[in-house]
Amino acid sequence: MSTLWVLGAGQLGAMLKQAGTPLGLDIRPVDIETDEVLPLAQDDIVTAEREEWPETAATKQLATHKNFVNLDTFPQLADRLTQKQWLDRLELATAPWFPVEEDTDADYAYQTLGERVLMKRRRGGYDGKGQYWLKQTENTAIPDDWKGLAIAEQAINFDEEVSLVGVRGKNGEKYFYPLTLNLHINGILYASISPLKRLDQYQSKAEAMLGKLMDALDYVGVMAMECFRVGDELLINELAPRVHNSGHWSQAGASICQFENHVRAVTNLPLAPVQVKNQSMMVNLIGVDVDYQWLNIKALELYWYKKEVRPGRKVGHLNFCSADISVLKQGLTELTLPAPYPEALEWLEKNL
Ligand code: ATP
Ligand code: MG
Repeated sequence: MSTLWVLGAGQLGAMLKQAGTPLGLDIRPVDIETDEVLPLAQDDIVTAEREEWPETAATKQLATHKNFVNLDTFPQLADRLTQKQWLDRLELATAPWFPVEEDTDADYAYQTLGERVLMKRRRGGYDGKGQYWLKQTENTAIPDDWKGLAIAEQAINFDEEVSLVGVRGKNGEKYFYPLTLNLHINGILYASISPLKRLDQYQSKAEAMLGKLMDALDYVGVMAMECFRVGDELLINELAPRVHNSGHWSQAGASICQFENHVRAVTNLPLAPVQVKNQSMMVNLIGVDVDYQWLNIKALELYWYKKEVRPGRKVGHLNFCSADISVLKQGLTELTLPAPYPEALEWLEKNL
């Protein structure tokens, strides 16, 4: 059996390895800073846990391998400009936008997109980093170091944020998880819930959108689509050509988790429809230390990434899955976490 190399050795790489291990697969996440000469064999396969990477000795070795799945797709989706162009070309709804050029000024942004405009750096943004708000009422100008390096988006007054995780095989077959409801605080994902009956009505529309994109890119593996729900409309916020934080609940709540699905797809193993087990919810651990007493809480599963705890840093997550909603609600009351968690836990309780 060939080896599956993963570009990147963060938590997503670790969870891909964890999911592929029972299948007997040899999965090796690679720290992009390693100087090691990787023993890559001809028929090995390469995937990535991140959408872009600097050129290092390790990434050069991996990115020149002939079996790097979706290699051409990464740069197209990692750059918000080309990602938006893909969405427009495929006539998939997204927040109105334009590229911020060297000579773009804030007045143009306000005239075109309204009085609140969100600039996003074309590359490298995550967890709300790489964003800059322009507010007409405050006369915000565009800083020089954003010109030519960002897109500008209309502020969307969304009802809520949902995401769809799907998997596509080499032969084009596709399977999807149920839509997930997400809560972001300050641009960072705090909590997710799936499935939710009231989101069923948007499921087929969302699948058609993500499916169209995956087909157009001839994509293989798991892709995530983050959306704003505005009334009955879904606007695509952004796409991630990889396993995604909003799909972590599938580790507890689905017959096959997103990580195993990705591994199966890229190694050309059979895919299977997703059977959802019960009600799931996920809480990200952001800037808080692990507390092993959490393991006393019913229906809880802990994933601790063994990263140094820093403010705003994702260091783990908690999955909960139960057929009994009262068990989940009880679990929420037993979690004591600092601000802004009370808001996130209350949001979960309200949406369950
Ligand atoms: P990720 O960590 O998911 O990669 P990110 O930092 O790359 O996130 P986005 O997903 O584009 O960036 O934005 C983060 C959050 O900021 C969104 O989930 C949403 O809450 C808010 N946001 C983004 N774009 C808009 C918009 N056009 N209008 C209003 N809010 C927005
Ligand atoms: Mg996002």
